[in-house]
Amino acid sequence: MLHDAHGFWIADAGSPPPRPALTGEERADVAVVGGGYVGMWTAWHVLEAAPDARVVIVEAARCGHGPSGRNGGFVSSLDLSLPSLRADLGDAPARAWVAAAHATVDAIGAWCEAEGVDAWYHKAGELVVSTAPAQDAVSADAVDGAAVRTVDAAGARAICASPVFRGGVLVPQTATVHPARLARGLARVVERHGGTIYEQTEVLDWGTGSVLTTHGTVTADTVVIATEGYGATLPKTATDAELRLWFGLALCFAGLLLIVIRRRRLHAARCLPR
Ligand SMILES: Cc1cc2nc3c(=O)[nH]c(=O)nc-3n(C[C@H](O)[C@H](O)[C@H](O)COP(=O)(O)OP(=O)(O)OC[C@H]3O[C@@H](n4cnc5c(N)ncnc54)[C@H](O)[C@@H]3O)c2cc1C
Repeated sequence: MLHDAHGFWIADAGSPPPRPALTGEERADVAVVGGGYVGMWTAWHVLEAAPDARVVIVEAARCGHGPSGRNGGFVSSLDLSLPSLRADLGDAPARAWVAAAHATVDAIGAWCEAEGVDAWYHKAGELVVSTAPAQDAVSADAVDGAAVRTVDAAGARAICASPVFRGGVLVPQTATVHPARLARGLARVVERHGGTIYEQTEVLDWGTGSVLTTHGTVTADTVVIATEGYGATLPKTATDAELRLWFGLALCFAGLLLIVIRRRRLHAARCLPR
């Protein structure tokens, strides 16, 4: 296996030439910043709901070259997260969330089929195993006998023949994909449905109705920011910590200014003739 800066999945999916960068002014109904899953699914859903909409994706590098094209490939139902979601949100919202994730697992498979995207979608379930006594109870709180089932050592080894497996839990509603093939396919399908994708075009700033890039500007009725963690580099999506830092610096500056003004007044008062 060859390892490079982008990892196995991207290399394995092959690298078509990059799409052209934005040049000049562009007008869109919806401008999406970031060509990861979130940006591309957003574009696809808009085009599906409104086929005549002008949808533009602006991507700093290549679509799917972020985590979207090189993740673990698990299309998860979130069943194992139900106990913690319930603790955080309450029972009904947690169940609604997991139900939506359940539907998504099947929807991604159906979408690949319908759009002719060979993303190696494979729904074989997820087996979480224990290899030490301390791990035996892991995920036991999620077991309900249906969405999450207990498997003993023989059951686990029947699925994957490792002598160290002591048992575990099985989550049938989980699939896997080739993440880079899914990302590539999404980009192709967005274009086939009339969307426009600009790559190698970094967004520097955005505001209501406009997106400023290194190569030009997109004016749009709706701007969707889909930059994930990278957004910390954009001024308007900077983290609270950065904002607090700037606020702190501004306060220091204002304080210094006050000191200078007061000292000048004092000096002026001393210079006045008695
Ligand atoms: C190692 C790893 C394994 C994972 N495994 C799984 C898994 O098995 N299953 C699962 O469901 N999830 C997994 N995830 C999480 C999943 O990959 C992410 O939640 C998902 O890909 C996020 O998609 P996104 O579109 O929000 O962000 P990204 O994929 O990060 O896309 C954001 C895009 O925005 C672009 N961008 C950023 N800044 C700018 C800018 N200024 N101008 C223009 N473009 C910009 C970036 O270049 C990038 O292409 C994993 C993540 C990692 C890191």
